[in-house]
Amino acid sequence: QDVLSVSARVAPVGSQLILVLVEDRTKERRVDAIRRDFVANVSHELKTPIGALVLLAEAVQHAADDPEAVQRFSNRMQIESERLTRLVQQIIELSRVQADDPVEEASVVRLDRVIDGALDRSRVDAQAKFVELVRAGETDLRVAGSEQQLVIALGNLIENAVSYSPHHTRVVVDVRRTAPDPDTAGVDGVSQIIEISVSDQGVGIPEKELERVFERFYRVDQARSRETGGTGLGLSIVKHVAASHGGAVEVWSVEGEGSTFTLQLPLRNDPTVDIPRPGGPN
Ligand code: ADP
Repeated sequence: QDVLSVSARVAPVGSQLILVLVEDRTKERRVDAIRRDFVANVSHELKTPIGALVLLAEAVQHAADDPEAVQRFSNRMQIESERLTRLVQQIIELSRVQADDPVEEASVVRLDRVIDGALDRSRVDAQAKFVELVRAGETDLRVAGSEQQLVIALGNLIENAVSYSPHHTRVVVDVRRTAPDPDTAGVDGVSQIIEISVSDQGVGIPEKELERVFERFYRVDQARSRETGGTGLGLSIVKHVAASHGGAVEVWSVEGEGSTFTLQLPLRNDPTVDIPRPGGPN
């Protein structure tokens, strides 16, 4: 419960002096609870592929004289090992983006490099499904933050778009910037927002699930996510990176038609961040 913890000390100095310390541990407790939850979830998620691998290893031993069964079980073992690897990778990525808080504001990141890096992570999967990856909108923009983290975040959105789309569809990565707001321009360094949207023609997300997809380990369709090797961590990483860059992530989706995830990042007119003018030199 959110309660204040109170501790008291009595220290005799000359005549008696009573010192009362009141400490608000609310936030600390909440963080502890989140950490405990996370560890419990991670253990649960790890148990599934590890349990499957143990059973499959036993099955292979018992099927030694049936080469076809051995082949089948070892294929499953490979799939489960890949799932385990991906899960561990994403857990490491999530803890890395959380540990890096707050992001170094002064470093200038070229958005084009972020988008190229993020697209590269999905090229092989997209080709295998004949999904066309299209880059649209503005180029030569810069944001403040960590290139590595932004590649991970945008990469996760593109990976999802490809994963949850049928063959022979398109995934479009579009970059726009909002018009400068004369009231905020120059105040606190924020004048414009860059919107990077990733749109697909995939399965979409039911409206009632939209709010929950950014939660850790949340998957709309367990079976489908399992099929695609999903961990349920990708979007929580995106949300974290967006927030640590002073931005946000939004989703718009129609079931059966497709989804658009939009990453919003602030352009800063901080003198250490060289913001190019439209059509001007980069
Ligand atoms: P996962 O590793 O399962 O993809 P994410 O955190 O990246 O985990 O996404 C959470 C859930 O949101 C997914 O399991 C999926 O159900 C849904 N989702 C994410 N992106 C898309 C998309 N582009 N189209 C349809 N569903 C999506």
